[in-house]
Amino acid sequence: MKTPAAIFVESGKPLVVDDIDLPDPGPTQVLVRHFATGVCHSQLHELHRPNPLVPLVLGHESTGVVSATGKDVTHVKEGDNVMVTWVQRNANRTTPRPTPAHVTFNGEQINYGAPAFTGTFTWARDTVADQQMIVPLEKGVPTDVTSIIGCAVMTGAGAALNAAQVRPGNSVAIIGAGGVGLSVIQACANLSADPVIVVDLTDEKLEFAKKFGGTIGINARNEDPVEKVRQLMGGEPTSGVDFAFDAIGSGRTMEQILHMARARRPGERDGGVAVLVGVPHGETPTLPMQMLFGGKVYRGAPGGCSIPDNDFPLLVRWFKQGKLPLDLMVTRRYKLEQINEACDALAKGEIAGRAIVEF
Ligand SMILES: [Zn+2]
Repeated sequence: MKTPAAIFVESGKPLVVDDIDLPDPGPTQVLVRHFATGVCHSQLHELHRPNPLVPLVLGHESTGVVSATGKDVTHVKEGDNVMVTWVQRNANRTTPRPTPAHVTFNGEQINYGAPAFTGTFTWARDTVADQQMIVPLEKGVPTDVTSIIGCAVMTGAGAALNAAQVRPGNSVAIIGAGGVGLSVIQACANLSADPVIVVDLTDEKLEFAKKFGGTIGINARNEDPVEKVRQLMGGEPTSGVDFAFDAIGSGRTMEQILHMARARRPGERDGGVAVLVGVPHGETPTLPMQMLFGGKVYRGAPGGCSIPDNDFPLLVRWFKQGKLPLDLMVTRRYKLEQINEACDALAKGEIAGRAIVEF
């Protein structure tokens, strides 16, 4: 079938909205008609560097309704609402790799998926994905703002829930208050962390973060966030937070979280933990080995170390209980034809929270 998609044809050029051809779903695949998809910051990294995989279709978080399934798909059926993600929903060591679909544009095979190894694309009215990337969404739950669970919320909330395993009373700091950062902040607040320190570059974003449970804001344009965190947490050279999250992934912020994490206390195995949540880009940070030797921990959290089958029902429950205000987090809505506008606004830092594309 033909479906309109935003196609990345050349690095630095606007995306082209045109029809691509989708195959019938294979035995383990699901055809989904989209309600909405999120516009993720990691896609800008994809768009702005030379990419040998073009032409590509991007997007990796969405909601939709199942329009057809392959014969081996058992966990969803036609008419079910679903969330699409880029992390396998219940993978273990023996789970087969997801099977990619043969998608074409003007008769030629087209690549998709960023991160490329997963095989999900959502910047199209319809998608075909392996059943491992499809998570059921109960009927009656809004299908617009839940489209950002599949990447932003999973990654941010998962970093607090799974990678850090934040406990009541833990002190935390989060750099970056976009869609992912706000999800870290809200999950830390739900897990009773205190304080929840937020670092960003504008007072508006810091103020906005308070609606998600941020308790203290630090504007890194006006003061050194590492010094400020240390000062807030006791003022000693060893002071810092139990968990420092980087939701940006720049060389600078990747270093800052290690400095913000507190030193190991006598008798402890681990000192403070620096959790890398954002996609690393730009310069490679210099990590002072002395700090790691001294007991600090540096932990990567790809996709928030999430297991979608376990985590998504919890995230949807939080949303329904008002503990995860996705309606607030989604601040802009676009049509597929406006995808370049959405990407430009995101690149300029104009989007608080997350933007979505609605179909
Ligand atoms: Zn993403």
